[in-house]
Amino acid sequence: MDTETEVIVAGAGPVGLMVAAELRLAGVDTVVLERAPEPSPHPKALGLHARTLEQLAMRGLIDPFLADGIRVPSWHFGFLPERLDLTRLDTAYPFLLAFPQNRTEALLQERALELGARIVRGEEVTGLTRTADGVRVETAVRAWQAGWVVGADGAGSTVRKAAGIGFPGTDGDTWAYLGDVRADAPPPAGYGVQNDKGALIVAPLPGGLLRFTGFDAERQDPAGRELTLDELRETTARISGQEFGLRDPVWLSRFTNATRVAADYRRGRVLLAGDAAHMHFPAGGVGLNLGLQDAMNLGWKLAAVVRGHAGEDLLDSYQTERRPWAEDVAEHTLAQTALITATTPAGQALRRLLSDLIRTQPELSLALARRLTALDVHYPAPGKHPLVGTRVAGVALLDGRPAVLGSTVVRPDGYVLEAGAVRGQSTS
Ligand SMILES: Cc1cc2nc3c(=O)[nH]c(=O)nc-3n(C[C@H](O)[C@H](O)[C@H](O)COP(=O)(O)OP(=O)(O)OC[C@H]3O[C@@H](n4cnc5c(N)ncnc54)[C@H](O)[C@@H]3O)c2cc1C
Repeated sequence: MDTETEVIVAGAGPVGLMVAAELRLAGVDTVVLERAPEPSPHPKALGLHARTLEQLAMRGLIDPFLADGIRVPSWHFGFLPERLDLTRLDTAYPFLLAFPQNRTEALLQERALELGARIVRGEEVTGLTRTADGVRVETAVRAWQAGWVVGADGAGSTVRKAAGIGFPGTDGDTWAYLGDVRADAPPPAGYGVQNDKGALIVAPLPGGLLRFTGFDAERQDPAGRELTLDELRETTARISGQEFGLRDPVWLSRFTNATRVAADYRRGRVLLAGDAAHMHFPAGGVGLNLGLQDAMNLGWKLAAVVRGHAGEDLLDSYQTERRPWAEDVAEHTLAQTALITATTPAGQALRRLLSDLIRTQPELSLALARRLTALDVHYPAPGKHPLVGTRVAGVALLDGRPAVLGSTVVRPDGYVLEAGAVRGQSTS
């Protein structure tokens, strides 16, 4: 096998696959190296938010997602009882699309392969060395030579560590439980509860499975102890006051609220994207969305640099633009963790107060909804036309190149590149 390529992407998770597809749109020779021999059967994320859906639509990819996904018109912030109304959002997709992550990965893999990416499974990246014209990537079986490396290898990223990039933030101090199971006495659709004992939310999965997930205030020392079906039964019954008849677990797991953002998104010819660049509590269901939007921001820029259409400084804008939004997500997911774990009388009062504000102040509800769905993401460009860096939706950018719309040039990821008096300008 040829072990030289223009770009190596470490990790065939959703973000690595999206980066690979974007690079291939521009004809960049791309190899994805994935540690796992097979894709994971367990969906971590269950939802796609509006901005992600807009970006999938720009590439002509939205139809299979809409065909199989379930449209959820309201969503929660910190498990507050009053949900955020998504139907008022200024988008063609005013809902959360319930769509399991493993199916997102399957569709993105199909897309990356169709466009000509090489995906090598069962090959773990173990180290990196800088070379005169790129990076040597060591794996458990051989060495590869690439011009550039994208670390999309998840929160424990080997690429990030090998490049010497720090991952500052806060350690987890909250454990959450997760069980994908069957239930003989399932709760009604949209069920959720938060009280002085903890929190539980139940979400449907394909094939009649249900996800029971939440926070158990009584069991906050489980480091190293695996979740069992008996514990899940006991926890969910105690918090909800109901027996659900849980059985046949497919996946039992725990996760924490460790929250970190990489100090740098780029170190020379090494770039980070997705969970390799940021980790946080999965409150509000935003992590996968954040990563896919990284991929859209990075793909066209890296392709332009590899193709010689732009200087390397274009890649510095990847960090300048994307890192602040990861910090924003880190901030609001920590705030949501505080609300989910607010079991004291004072915490319960805070939840009632905020919930009442969301119910009575539609603008607050809308602002939080825009934040969760990333519709408020923009990339400030001081000194330039005020439209530069703002979001554009509803434009087909199928070939991953900028598009001229009247006097505006739209970037391949759907943000204004130039505005005012650009009529007739070349977009190549
Ligand atoms: C319980 C839970 C629920 C969640 N719910 C949501 C949700 O509803 N909505 C949402 O948006 N997000 C959610 N998230 C977050 C979301 O799952 C992640 O943000 C997403 O998986 C990130 O994708 P990624 O491609 O960056 O990383 P990953 O999905 O972690 O993929 C990384 C890939 O790299 C591979 N890899 C790792 N190391 C190496 C190596 N050294 N060499 C080669 N390959 C390697 C791994 O095998 C893996 O395939 C949830 C997360 C959890 C844990």
